[in-house]
Amino acid sequence: MIESHSIVRKALPSQDDLKARREHCSVDSRLLGSVGAALGQQIRIRRTATEYALYTVSELRDEDDADVVRIGLTGRRRLGTDDPFEGAIALPAADPTLSESDAEASGELVERLDDDGEHRGLIVIAPHGGDIEPHTDEQAERVVFGLGGYGVSSWGCKGWKERREDGSGGALECWHITSTEIDPSSFPGLGSVIDRGFAHAVAFHGFDESEILIGGTAPAPLKEEIRCAIEAATSGSDIPVRIAKPDDQFGGDDPCNIVNLLTVGGAGGIQIEQSLPARRDHATAIADAIATVFARELRRHRPPWQENISDLIEWVRQAARRVLDWGSRRMP
Ligand SMILES: [Zn+2]
Repeated sequence: MIESHSIVRKALPSQDDLKARREHCSVDSRLLGSVGAALGQQIRIRRTATEYALYTVSELRDEDDADVVRIGLTGRRRLGTDDPFEGAIALPAADPTLSESDAEASGELVERLDDDGEHRGLIVIAPHGGDIEPHTDEQAERVVFGLGGYGVSSWGCKGWKERREDGSGGALECWHITSTEIDPSSFPGLGSVIDRGFAHAVAFHGFDESEILIGGTAPAPLKEEIRCAIEAATSGSDIPVRIAKPDDQFGGDDPCNIVNLLTVGGAGGIQIEQSLPARRDHATAIADAIATVFARELRRHRPPWQENISDLIEWVRQAARRVLDWGSRRMP
């Protein structure tokens, strides 16, 4: 981890963006350069050993003092204070070495990529996994598992953070960066696939609304197919499932949203926003519904000879299993 001493001050009256956006900060370019970061990237800001959070550098500002960082009030509250303070900025955004259990125990953020370096059909992402938006990473893993024969790629971050004694704080407050601002140069795994040009990308998210919202830049017929599949998978739950309209705040149709950026021409992203009950009680059913839809999509794009080889492999696998079963039944 690279760290540099910093003085965190209040946003200036003119910095409306910092006042409105709690994930944003302005940094003096000399300070930002000292940790090798740039405008638009994510950096950590640390106030104490236990108070730290991830921010997007939304402005470079030449300050009299090169150590100065500015954050609005709601942004400082993410670090448990209303006041200015002395602390540090640090990189990288996600810890590159920790296991998930160690990350959970130490209140950390890790990045995970599963990719063969070539696949272009589908990438499944969960940018806010772990405790940030619970169950979304499990859903992404479930889709990958369900589409095992297609070699689909997956990417995500998983974050954990213990709440303060008064119940405030936690992983969402500490690690959440909005999907339109996640910078591929801050996350090497994402950076390695961002220009691949996948035919499809699907992102699992959680939000506070009481519905399931299907958004992204993918064509309307695919969204409708997914809506039907999720509605069937959650039937009897009373959770509404709908396709986002252009004016929906969580519609995921911003071209800068990473789920869209990952696809050819930015036109193949599907964003699934889900209430907590949807994720908690129907995580697997929703993931399986999505896997079923994309299995059809991926088959459509696959050359017929590949389909035949998959059938052959599956036939050999099942034949081998039958032989093994037969062998084990004969064991004394
Ligand atoms: Zn999210």
